[in-house]
Amino acid sequence: MGTWKMGAASGSEERAKEVRALRRGVELGITLIDTAEVYTAGRSEEMVGEAIREIRKDVFIATKVSPGHLHYDDVIKSCRASLKRLGTSYVDLYQVHWPNPRIPIKETMTAMEKLVDEGAIRFVGVSNFSVSETEEAMNSMSRNEVVSNQVEYSLTNRYVEPEILPYCAKEKVTLVAYSPLAEGKIAESLPSAVLRKYHMTPAQVMLNWVTRHEQVVAIPKATGVAHMEENASSVSVRFDPAEYDQVASA
Ligand code: NAP
Repeated sequence: MGTWKMGAASGSEERAKEVRALRRGVELGITLIDTAEVYTAGRSEEMVGEAIREIRKDVFIATKVSPGHLHYDDVIKSCRASLKRLGTSYVDLYQVHWPNPRIPIKETMTAMEKLVDEGAIRFVGVSNFSVSETEEAMNSMSRNEVVSNQVEYSLTNRYVEPEILPYCAKEKVTLVAYSPLAEGKIAESLPSAVLRKYHMTPAQVMLNWVTRHEQVVAIPKATGVAHMEENASSVSVRFDPAEYDQVASA
């Protein structure tokens, strides 16, 4: 579940709706929640913290450190602040939100390893990294691996397919697909035979298509229960390879 632009004011009806949506998602088995220190100036993390308060062990929390905070001390400080907002003692996946060529990745990754050693984070990931940047990050750590690269991937944005996706498949790095519903611009010309055969909506077909590779997980955002329920039942079956091709060329 994505949470970009979520995190309405504490106590508001909108906040309660966001919390209900995430809790419903967890009930339906969507256990990965993605957020970032920068989202809604920290309120997205606070909202996630509220949603998971009684169910921390059932969820996998992924958050991100901003590109301006990639010096050693800043990474440590950002992580502590995220843990506080999330109301938890550990984050499952801590991701470098964007590369920053002005700060040596080795310095950032040294801080990441320190956080793993302390038990503040379980896994290290990156986001918006090219293949060479991912390799450099990987080679900068001695005891841990980069387990994931979060990048934009949807039917309407397939830039990861030539290089990033094959690299992830080869190196067993999880590709976390962001904006898998093209930020709500749902495809309008999907093959009706596929929609009918699988009794799926266009949004469900988009999510099923983007997660057709074993190495890919998607983090769609849904701020209400209805979309959440729709998204939760998008991957229970797999299409035939020829049908995936039809969807891709529609
Ligand atoms: P998205 O998930 O592609 O699309 C979200 C939009 O789709 C919302 O407007 C939502 O509306 C709508 N939607 C959800 N389910 C739907 C359904 N079943 N039918 C029709 N519309 C539906 O866009 P996103 O939020 O950009 O991306 C997902 C997550 O990826 C983010 O929330 C964030 O966690 C992450 N992300 C990361 C980066 C990065 O740099 N690493 C960048 C962008 C995003 P409702 O809210 O009304 O349900």
